[in-house]
Amino acid sequence: MHDVVIIGAGPAGLSAARWCDELGLDTLLLEANEDVGGQLTWIHNRIENYLGVHADDGQQLRELFIAHTKDCDFDQWTGVAIDKVDLKAKRVRLHSGEELQAIAIVIATGLRRRRLGIPGETEFEGRGIIESSKRDREQFTGKDVCVIGGGDAAAENALLLAEVCPTVTLVSRSRKLRARREFSEQLPTHHCITVFPESNVRRILGNEGVEAVEIERVGAIKPFQMAVQGVVIRIGFEPNTDFVRGQLELDDGGYVTTDSRQETSIENVFAIGDVANPLAPTIAGAVGAGATAAKVIAGRLQK
Ligand SMILES: Cc1cc2nc3c(=O)[nH]c(=O)nc-3n(C[C@H](O)[C@H](O)[C@H](O)COP(=O)(O)OP(=O)(O)OC[C@H]3O[C@@H](n4cnc5c(N)ncnc54)[C@H](O)[C@@H]3O)c2cc1C
Repeated sequence: MHDVVIIGAGPAGLSAARWCDELGLDTLLLEANEDVGGQLTWIHNRIENYLGVHADDGQQLRELFIAHTKDCDFDQWTGVAIDKVDLKAKRVRLHSGEELQAIAIVIATGLRRRRLGIPGETEFEGRGIIESSKRDREQFTGKDVCVIGGGDAAAENALLLAEVCPTVTLVSRSRKLRARREFSEQLPTHHCITVFPESNVRRILGNEGVEAVEIERVGAIKPFQMAVQGVVIRIGFEPNTDFVRGQLELDDGGYVTTDSRQETSIENVFAIGDVANPLAPTIAGAVGAGATAAKVIAGRLQK
C-alpha cells in the first residue's frame, strides 16, 4: 500500500515524485523504460527555454533532474510498463501479476510519436529510419532522404538534413505546410529540398536498409517509387492513454481531461504533463503540473 503511485518518469513524473517525497508521502514511481527522463532522451538540441537552466541537450537536463532526486526517499521501479489499472479501486497490476494499492494515482505517461502504420516502418527501424536528424546527420551525409510530415518538426528535420544530403524530399499530406514561417519560407527556395504536398508515403522499401519510398499523390493515377536511403517520420504525437481508455474522461485526441488541481474525472486520480496537455506541452508545464498534483494530494491526505 502506497500513498501515491505515479505512472511515468518523464519531467512530470519526476517532479511529482520529488514533491510528494518532500511533502512526506509514501511514493512509488513506475517507468516503462529502463531509463527515466521520457522525451528528454529524444532532445538533441539545446534547451534554452527552461528557466534557470541552459542545457546542451535533453540528456544533460535529464541528468540534472536525476541528480535532484538522488536525496529523495521515494521508490522507483524502471522497466515496468503498466497496461492494467483499476482507477476507481486505485489498483495497479504489474506484468508479474503483483497488484499495487494506492490512495492516489498520478498518470504521467506523456506522449509517443505517431506512427504511419505502413509496410517497412517497423522493419527498417535503425536501418534507414532516422530517429534524430541532428544526432544521425553524419551517418546520412551524401545520401538522398525523405522526410514525412508537414509541421515544424518535419520542416526542421528537412532543413537540417539539407545541409548534408544532396536531395531531401518532404512529403506532406496537407496542401499547405503547417510549419512556422521561419521554416516554411525557407523550404520552397532551398536548392535541394523538394516538397510534395497532398501526398502520402504508402510503403518504405529495401533489403538490408531503406532503398526507396512509394509515394501516392492526391489525384494521381498510380503511386511512384523514389530512391532514398533514409526516412524521417514526423507526423505528430499521441498520448499514452490506451491503458486507461474507458475508465476516465479523455478528449477527442485521447488526452486526459483534468481540472485546475490536475485531477481527472475520478477522485484521487491525477494526470500531469503532456498526457493531459494537448495545447502547450513543455518541460516547464510538466514540472509545474507535477508540483500541483503533489500539493493537492498532500493536502487531502494530511486532513
Ligand atoms: C525533439 C523534442 C524537443 C523538445 N524540446 C523542448 C524544449 O526545448 N522545451 C520544452 O519545454 N519542451 C520541449 N519538448 C517537450 C518536452 O520534452 C515534453 O513536454 C516533456 O518531456 C513532457 O514530460 P512528461 O513527463 O509529461 O512526458 P514524457 O517526457 O513523455 O514522459 C512520459 C514517461 O512515461 C513513460 N510511460 C509511458 N507509458 C507508460 C506506461 N504504461 N507505464 C509506465 N511508464 C510509461 C514513458 O516511457 C516516459 O518515460 C521537446 C520534445 C521533443 C520530442
